[in-house]
Amino acid sequence: MADEWQEQLTCATRCSRCDKNMGADDQRILSVYDHQPICMDCKSQEEHRPDYEKVTKEMIGQCLIDTEVKWGDPQGFCYHHFYPYKC
Ligand SMILES: [Zn+2]
Repeated sequence: MADEWQEQLTCATRCSRCDKNMGADDQRILSVYDHQPICMDCKSQEEHRPDYEKVTKEMIGQCLIDTEVKWGDPQGFCYHHFYPYKC
């Protein structure tokens, strides 16, 4: 499971939501809805969804169980749902 997620963190060349091209220097972040890498514009739209808070809480709980990585670990998959990263 952890390996799978590691792979998703590797360099996506386009946003999985709006299909915008993302360069190596563009920041991207993971969606709390489907764990796909999305651009920062899509992330801010996601944050305005009415169920965002609820989905976020559920996602954190599940993520910690699945990855067994401590919350806030910068190497952890969960972390990248809230902190943008580059390739
Ligand atoms: Zn996007």
